[in-house]
Amino acid sequence: MRYDYAVIGGGISGMTAALLLAKHGRRTVLIEQAPRLAPLVRGFQRDGVNFDTGFHYAGGLAPGESLHLFLRYLGLLDPLQIKAFDPVGFDRFQFADGMSFALPLGDDAIIARLARLFPTERVAIATYLQRLAAAAGTFPYINLDRDFTAQPTLDYVHGPSLQEVLDELFIAPRLKEIFAAHCVLHGAPPSDIPFALHACFVGPYYRSAHGFVGGGAALVAAFETALRAAGVEILTGRAVERILGDSNGVCGVRLVDGEEVTVAAVIATVHPASLVDLVADKFFRPIFNKRMKQLENTTSALIFYVACETAPEWLLRSNLLMVDAAPGGMGTGPDDGLLFIAGAERSADPSRCGGMVVISPCAAQLTARWQESRFGGRPADYRYFKDELSRKLLRRLQLFAECGAIRSVALATPLTLRDYCNNPGGGLYGVKHRVGQYNPQPVTRVPNLLLAGQAVAGPGLFGTMLSAFLCCGTVLGHEQLREELKQCS
Ligand SMILES: Cc1cc2nc3c(=O)[nH]c(=O)nc-3n(C[C@H](O)[C@H](O)[C@H](O)COP(=O)(O)OP(=O)(O)OC[C@H]3O[C@@H](n4cnc5c(N)ncnc54)[C@H](O)[C@@H]3O)c2cc1C
Repeated sequence: MRYDYAVIGGGISGMTAALLLAKHGRRTVLIEQAPRLAPLVRGFQRDGVNFDTGFHYAGGLAPGESLHLFLRYLGLLDPLQIKAFDPVGFDRFQFADGMSFALPLGDDAIIARLARLFPTERVAIATYLQRLAAAAGTFPYINLDRDFTAQPTLDYVHGPSLQEVLDELFIAPRLKEIFAAHCVLHGAPPSDIPFALHACFVGPYYRSAHGFVGGGAALVAAFETALRAAGVEILTGRAVERILGDSNGVCGVRLVDGEEVTVAAVIATVHPASLVDLVADKFFRPIFNKRMKQLENTTSALIFYVACETAPEWLLRSNLLMVDAAPGGMGTGPDDGLLFIAGAERSADPSRCGGMVVISPCAAQLTARWQESRFGGRPADYRYFKDELSRKLLRRLQLFAECGAIRSVALATPLTLRDYCNNPGGGLYGVKHRVGQYNPQPVTRVPNLLLAGQAVAGPGLFGTMLSAFLCCGTVLGHEQLREELKQCS
């Protein structure tokens, strides 16, 4: 069969792109190499607990906000049960020196809470929140009334960085630390992330924070139903080995089993470094290949899954950020730095918390010794190393006495992120968005080869869905898409 579009990669970006195209009458095939769609976000079940992997919570899911609108427009909202996080403390902070506080939702509440702790910085806090909202409002799919800028993310590469804005506004280092801690949501330190992109991807969390009952698996199930209803052909367990065509245009894809699929256009959502391996020599210009291979990646992380005897229910509506002395909002490994802790639902009763997912940002170098090994075939000393890391993380978590006895269920390392999540370089969110780095844009120089994915617009549910709108808008018409979104709001 001949398709109008082949979408490579069945993550959030690919599923969104395929759905958008099919909704507009394009015959679309979605090709995912893993046995099932969205391996990164569907999570896993172990010891009676549903562990989320690539989705814990999102900003912008309140009615009227951007992400809510995307989901509604694509027909994904109905089957989903959206779960509001605690408005008086959606994220709870605990510092090594004993200071702790809960960050509430909404600018006024945040100003009131933080001004109690930093009374002389009240005006600066208000200014910071205003600037976040203003910067996010410059994005054409966030602000549907703003003139469309074809390549909005390129505008922000020149900065300022988040760190520059924090240094300009705040005096108290602790206040800077608090606002920098949310860099864990995009994986670039405050000195790297352009302030406007931070505003776009983190700002919405300050107004509303939600998850889904059933977690990432429920989101994937909603996508699967919608994709089938829209007539998208879904091929899973079948990797694309080659994008066929040349620099004058693409004409199909070849799968690893040798089958060739004829298409009029391709949308690739894979990591940019993998993209250039899917094409023949001279497809892209050498300078483009080099640039894609050399893009800097986001921070890596250890992701620790633990089952708890008596996990507090509040963990299902608030995250815990344990912030140690690591400067710059990121950690260096299990011994220090930030721990981002989200609750995990019990499988038998999703209203009860049965465990925790602990993200400990670290450098990919941590597991560089074993980089020649592959998923499923790691040597014994790697397993000892992981056992030792688990013990260290468990020791840090003992401080969190409310959980009773806790036991390790699984530990993902930078190598897991590289091999299982398909992020060459082991980045938590693939390619970094940073001041001075030109990430790929939706339109390439090769006619009919388009790009979406976290490298293109940004990471997270919002960033990846946005990337699909930016990509598909180039063929469906941005004004038409934005008008349709407006009609839906
Ligand atoms: C630990 C962790 C926690 C997170 N928590 C949150 C959160 O709480 N909230 C939030 O909004 N975001 C969160 N994220 C980020 C979010 O999960 C990602 O940004 C998003 O899922 C990336 O989607 P994507 O489609 O761009 O990429 P991917 O999900 O990586 O999709 C790309 C797909 O392409 C497939 N593929 C690769 N090569 C080929 C090939 N040759 N042929 C066919 N298929 C191929 C891969 O198997 C993959 O499924 C988290 C991420 C991680 C790692």
